[in-house]
Amino acid sequence: ANTSELVDYITQYLSSIRDRRVIPDVKPGYMKDLLPDVAPTEPEDWDKIFSDIERVIMPGVVHWQSPHMHAYYPSLTSWPSMLGDMLANAINCVGFTWASSPACTELEMNVMDWLCKALGLPCFFLHYHPDSRGGGVLQSTVSESTLVALLAARKDKILQLRAELDQDVDDSVLNSRLVAYASDQAHSSVEKAGLIALVKITFLPTDEQQSLRGDTLKQAILEDRRRGMVPFLLCSTLGTTGVCAFDKLSELGSVCEEEGLWLHVDAAYAGSAYFCPELRWSLEGIEFAHSFVFNPSKWMMVHFDCTAFWVKDKYKLQQTFSVDPVYLRHENSQSATDFMHWQIPLSRRFRSLKLWFVLRCFGLKNLQAHIRHLLESHIKTDPNFEIPAQRHLGLVVFCLKGGNALTQELLRRLTRSGSMYLIPAEVQNKRIIRFTVTSQFTTAQDILKDWDQISKTASTLLAEQEHVTFWDQLASQTSTGRRVNKEL
Ligand SMILES: *Cc1c(COP(=O)(O)O)cnc(C)c1O
Repeated sequence: ANTSELVDYITQYLSSIRDRRVIPDVKPGYMKDLLPDVAPTEPEDWDKIFSDIERVIMPGVVHWQSPHMHAYYPSLTSWPSMLGDMLANAINCVGFTWASSPACTELEMNVMDWLCKALGLPCFFLHYHPDSRGGGVLQSTVSESTLVALLAARKDKILQLRAELDQDVDDSVLNSRLVAYASDQAHSSVEKAGLIALVKITFLPTDEQQSLRGDTLKQAILEDRRRGMVPFLLCSTLGTTGVCAFDKLSELGSVCEEEGLWLHVDAAYAGSAYFCPELRWSLEGIEFAHSFVFNPSKWMMVHFDCTAFWVKDKYKLQQTFSVDPVYLRHENSQSATDFMHWQIPLSRRFRSLKLWFVLRCFGLKNLQAHIRHLLESHIKTDPNFEIPAQRHLGLVVFCLKGGNALTQELLRRLTRSGSMYLIPAEVQNKRIIRFTVTSQFTTAQDILKDWDQISKTASTLLAEQEHVTFWDQLASQTSTGRRVNKEL
């Protein structure tokens, strides 16, 4: 009974989500007053717990599945995905080695190969391919995958340096000479990976399209080499978080190849677009990549967490992460894939089930249709607004023509109303507002309605501004008049 009650609640929640305020109206610490100080000694009635969902939890929830949610990035979901996660939770295996639950490892290998082919990625990323040394694995986040790529690239370079040197030098000494690159538009997780690994990362300037270019990278590498540094990695981005810009992989790839850099590609958001062949133009140069990562948990309607990560050479991951305690050895250790050697944690969830359900229930045809549908969401032109970066995929950025302070004030008013949620970003010192579609319930009408409110709020703000400017001028005239009077 408890189960069906909660399932009904979930159905009701999702089908009426449109009516809820997108962002909560609570202050930090709001929950402390709603809960007792200690856990109950005696078991409580389910009814009481159930009723606390609306009393305690919902007032503090940001409704990411609301059609009026346009902040951060999409976190689309679907029923097949939810059912896949339910089944995974029922099985609740911890699939660190093949032997710990063979289906968990094998479904992941097969589904990652499906996905690799469906996105048009190179066949050296496939598990099941005669010439491939690579494969795909599901990680928890793109941030973690970028760290994994950095650690693998670092290990590889340190082993190379060690082979070239005659004397024995500590790894930490070699580590201190390493340098990695990313564009100044790269996600903060790249900076974090550098912080964790104690590796210097240089953020390179981008062109007017916010794309990192080959020449910029080449120059930086040559300069760093002259200073005795050892360049080892480029974290390039396809679809940046700020404005969805694309680094020029076709130029960067060959520079990495010439200079012996590991090329990691972060397509966290944009990756899902590659289901559509007509959107693959930015993949030109992908044949130079050593690793590629994207989040099916953003656009592909698969629940968080689900991050697809491919490497060209799995042995480079394994030489970074392999530990071999007796209690985890099994008789198929040689012939089977043990994903514990592909990641930082030991334990792992059965994440591939939800991906398998989604791929099968929609089929590639409907996944493509879904992506194409999302691209149609567009914003009408409005004379008060400027679109400071070209629109790519499902992310629109805009700002008020009157400057950063006005744009910030517009954002504050829209957020305060609670009827939609948007967040800011900055490109070339310009404060911008990002607008993404994050819910599978969003209709063209929802977007028009929200745009209408943005547009009206902007007009009101600008009208007040003119009013203020008028009074300011008048006031400054009189005060100048007064000052002049005093001086006299
Ligand atoms: C969303 C995003 C990330 C972060 O993804 P996590 O899975 O939350 O770590 C990284 N890079 C880009 C380009 C993104 O859009």
